[in-house]
Amino acid sequence: MPNNQYKTNLLNLNQQALTKLFESLGEKPYRVKQIMQWIYKYHEFDFDKMLNLSKKLRQQLNDIACINFPEVSKQNQALDGVIKWVIDVGENNFIETVYIPEKDRGTLCISSQVGCSLACTFCSTGMQGFNRNLSTAEIIAQVMIAKQYLSTKDKRISNVVFMGMGEPLLNEKAVYVACDLLLDDLAFGLSRRKVTISTSGVVPALLRMADRTPVSLAISLHAPDDTLRDELVPINQKYPIKELLLACQNYLTAGTQERHILFEYVMLEGVNDSTAQAKKLATLLKGLSAKVNLIPFNPFPKTQYQTSKKVTIASFQDVLFDNGIRTTTRRTRGEEVDAACGQLAGRVVDKTKRTQE
Ligand code: SAH
Ligand code: SF4
Repeated sequence: MPNNQYKTNLLNLNQQALTKLFESLGEKPYRVKQIMQWIYKYHEFDFDKMLNLSKKLRQQLNDIACINFPEVSKQNQALDGVIKWVIDVGENNFIETVYIPEKDRGTLCISSQVGCSLACTFCSTGMQGFNRNLSTAEIIAQVMIAKQYLSTKDKRISNVVFMGMGEPLLNEKAVYVACDLLLDDLAFGLSRRKVTISTSGVVPALLRMADRTPVSLAISLHAPDDTLRDELVPINQKYPIKELLLACQNYLTAGTQERHILFEYVMLEGVNDSTAQAKKLATLLKGLSAKVNLIPFNPFPKTQYQTSKKVTIASFQDVLFDNGIRTTTRRTRGEEVDAACGQLAGRVVDKTKRTQE
């Protein structure tokens, strides 16, 4: 095994950073295009095989750089076509990535952290505790692993959502660089509308995100008032709904292109699913360029919650419709492989000691 510890992993660099690196080696900008093509188009990770680079450059890259990739530990496919990868990120930590095929698109749900420190009460990842942030390379590798496998099945990734394990806005730097690569034509070339950061509402980071990256935004709201949200999404105690919605307003007006926000709302029976709560939610979101996605709760072992009944979800949706709010209800997918939203658990060595409490 080569000792790559002190080398720069090129998968951690966006085009701008690669350009800087190549400049420091005295190379011309077109070399950046060449290397990005080798990595992202041809999935070639051996510098010695990148034959359009000069011999001297190949040698320099071998000395200072590497392309490091985590290993797939398991791959499962459900009957409905949903695929889950369990990826080994070292030291007994495993993260999960899920591909959800639909008629007109293929969505890849990626992880941003090993575990999550925010402890939302209905989330399996949150219940496990937190170990560490993922690097850009570990985030991007999830897309590369899925893309490589799917290409052999003639399938493609049209959308990428940060809805796997972890809170992306608590790992801002790595996530933004990953977004740069997802949007870059020399890497994944996705449109900004097809890449979504989902957050439970880390307000200061959300304010920064509005200016840093043009990708789409989903807010995990889940409750129409602070009393209930404080309980379900504990970060609300720090950044209450009013502040969160102000940050949402800021996101909508920042940037040069038109922006929208998707509000996610997990349907928990008898907790947040009454028609009175739907009315409250409608009032809250009035005037924002918002769409609501109702997510039937995905149960996991030892949870205290149950999924709302179909009729309850339908009535909730009707109230939102009647108040002029565009609303969709998510279909549950990938059940046999525990690949549904919020069920992603991987295996996390908890450093918050929460799981021992
Ligand atoms: N930390 C980020 C992104 C990861 S969670 C966030 O909270 O937005 C992705 C989505 O799954 C969030 O909307 C989250 O609230 C939802 N979710 C978590 N646990 C769930 C569960 N058990 N059933 C349904 N959705 C869940
Ligand atoms: Fe973390 Fe999101 Fe789960 Fe909350 S819902 S614990 S923020 S991953």
